[in-house]
Amino acid sequence: MISQEMLKLGTSKSVIRELAGFGAQRAAIVGAENVLDFSLGNPSVPAPKEVQDAIVDIIKNYEPKVYHSYSSGAGHDGCRTAIAENLNKRYGTNYSKDNFIMTCGAAASLNITIKALVAEPGDEIMVLAPFFPEYTVFIAAQGGKQVLVPCKDDMQLNVEGIKEALTPKTRGIIVNSPNNPSGVVYTKEEMQELCDLLVEKEKEYGHPIYIIADEPYRELVLIDGLEVPFIPNMYKNTVVCYSWSKSLSLPGERIGYVLVPNNVDDEQLIAACGGAARALGFVCAPTLFQLVIERCVNVEPDLTVYKKNRDLLYDGLTKLGYNVAKPAGAFYLFIESPDGDSEKFSEKAKEYDMLVVPGTGFGSKAHMRLSYCVETEKCEKSLEVFEKLMKKYK
Ligand code: PLP
Repeated sequence: MISQEMLKLGTSKSVIRELAGFGAQRAAIVGAENVLDFSLGNPSVPAPKEVQDAIVDIIKNYEPKVYHSYSSGAGHDGCRTAIAENLNKRYGTNYSKDNFIMTCGAAASLNITIKALVAEPGDEIMVLAPFFPEYTVFIAAQGGKQVLVPCKDDMQLNVEGIKEALTPKTRGIIVNSPNNPSGVVYTKEEMQELCDLLVEKEKEYGHPIYIIADEPYRELVLIDGLEVPFIPNMYKNTVVCYSWSKSLSLPGERIGYVLVPNNVDDEQLIAACGGAARALGFVCAPTLFQLVIERCVNVEPDLTVYKKNRDLLYDGLTKLGYNVAKPAGAFYLFIESPDGDSEKFSEKAKEYDMLVVPGTGFGSKAHMRLSYCVETEKCEKSLEVFEKLMKKYK
């Protein structure tokens, strides 16, 4: 007898992976340059040179045991101190290493945080649609109940909807901005409204409601001067789940952190996160990459290609008559299918060797996600396909 739930997870098909597989098959036949694959969120910009240099420097100059050994469960002091200093400088905070647990990427950070917050089966974690589909898996795996609240038509926060969906069982609300799949950055004004609402509801319920700030795209802001509000400075009961998967193009290296500020209501939350990391078998984050991050924490990503692709696609698609939420960050566009059926659109696009992901799994069947972390020429070519497809709907 095996777990039917895990079997289902292990054998259910991911639409994204399936599309990518189809793309690989087509590439073998028509050539990779002729497949417009917008399915995966793998950064196309290589990791910065500083990262390569740091890896070489560490391997050349230190005994293997330094970079191959276990670190403590929370992570190397030097790495956590460097992260604290980086955030303190940028956001005027006063963090120390003790506010951080190094993790195997944002997915691990989220699982750890949700596990630490779900005190009883059925405790609720709110998710704002559209959303990263793995949240559903993480929440179920950690014994929580997912409560979905759709965003407004412009993909911004729907504070009224959140207010109606909050209950005394709400333990946390995942806020992902810049957002996957919409690319939207939630405005400071609406974030403030949300924080005010949560403070009011915490008083009413007599216990904290945590914002789980899922921030792997924090550094990927594509509008000059636009600030992504740093949520712990707006709302004390915030836990930040971060990774360098996107900002330093290191998704395969599995490196991130959980940040729990000192002033959260549950003083022992960081210890519970440590317990959750242990229970989930993470042991420690990859040691070599903790040492790399210590050296590269101040390196900024090169956003040139993402900006160019975003402008090209957003301008081109809106000119062709597509309805697209204005993306301010990450590297995704969430495009409304002309007839509101993204699954049909995705199938039609495949006929032209263009791969866009239907939005059903992200919480909106009407939209499809396009990951534009690809070569700019492919974005240019895709507009010709989008034009042909739009004509079919007229
Ligand atoms: N959260 C969001 C919104 C994501 O898009 C992703 C990855 O695509 C993750 C979390 C997981 O990131 P990581 O690769 O660092 O685990």
